[in-house]
Amino acid sequence: MINIIRSQHPIGEVDYQNEDIRELVKNDFFKMCYLCEEVTRHFEIDHFYPQNYYPDEVNNWDNLFYICQKCNKIKPKNINTHSQNEILNNCVDDVESLIILRYDQARNHIEITSDNQDRRIEAKVKQTIRLLNKIYNEQNTNSKSYKDLQDEIKKEIAYFFDLLDNYEKSEMKFIYKNQIKKRLSKKNLDEKKLIHFLQTAYHFR
Ligand SMILES: [Zn+2]
Repeated sequence: MINIIRSQHPIGEVDYQNEDIRELVKNDFFKMCYLCEEVTRHFEIDHFYPQNYYPDEVNNWDNLFYICQKCNKIKPKNINTHSQNEILNNCVDDVESLIILRYDQARNHIEITSDNQDRRIEAKVKQTIRLLNKIYNEQNTNSKSYKDLQDEIKKEIAYFFDLLDNYEKSEMKFIYKNQIKKRLSKKNLDEKKLIHFLQTAYHFR
């Protein structure tokens, strides 16, 4: 998960189905799904507090999140409906420090942990880990989304490390430097996102 600094409330009424509003959410979230971090054009707008339970929150700017279609399918519909099933909020909580992902190659399993010491957010951390486990590791779901996600992450990281290895070994570093740069810009990674990506990639290696 990545921390998001949401831009200021747009001028005028917010309608979450409006193309301009969707575009703003997309840019704020760096085109990355707020749960699995996948960069995707095939996104949906997610209501952090579900619209069926909180009709007043449907067009609340702070309630609009960028989500990939897979995660939207996996995410239980009743999440964030009472204090015991609320997850961390990327726009409020420091999710990048709170949630740690490691890829366990031997078990082909993504380990999701936290070293959070703050009891006030303990329940949220737990719920977030539970949801991410569903997204990355659930074996019993009818949709094969978890498998697609794992494969995509593995593929991307393998590709990235190949580039880095070639860069380290090569006499003509500029070629690989350019390829790495291109790959990163394709993934919409600015400096802060890049550092996070590398930290995650390092864990996954
Ligand atoms: Zn996702």
